Amino acid sequence: MCVRSGPGAIPGRFPLGRGRARLGVRSFSVEAARLPRYLGSCHCGKVRFAVDAEIDHVRVCDCSICRRRGALIHRVEEGQFELLSPLDELATYRFNTRQATDYFCTHCGILPFRRPRTAPHLWAVNVRCLEGVDLDAIPVEHVSGSRLP
Ligand SMILES: [Zn+2]
Repeated sequence: MCVRSGPGAIPGRFPLGRGRARLGVRSFSVEAARLPRYLGSCHCGKVRFAVDAEIDHVRVCDCSICRRRGALIHRVEEGQFELLSPLDELATYRFNTRQATDYFCTHCGILPFRRPRTAPHLWAVNVRCLEGVDLDAIPVEHVSGSRLP
């Protein structure tokens, strides 16, 4: 989990990151600085976070938990995700292979994000929890989590 106190703690937004970019080494944090920032929260507001991302699609999965939950997911890299509230406001849930981690607000029960099983280094953000996103305008990508072994 990446917990930051403010923008000063973000690596790569300072000369080191720019230097790497000039050398042609891909730097997600430099790219993230140019991306739109969306603020997210659970229902009660105890869990707050931000993502720097172009929300150009959402994923709808048919696995046993996603079809019950109905979340619209967009995956982002570690450097595009910032947790703005204390980690202890979150509970976790693991099932089956226990590779995915679902994070819930302990107060209101909303899942604002998760670590997906097929890419546990990414954050799978529940786009329904983000402010200022037109949910009806985003292309939907259907994924078949139910077919994972
Ligand atoms: Zn909450």
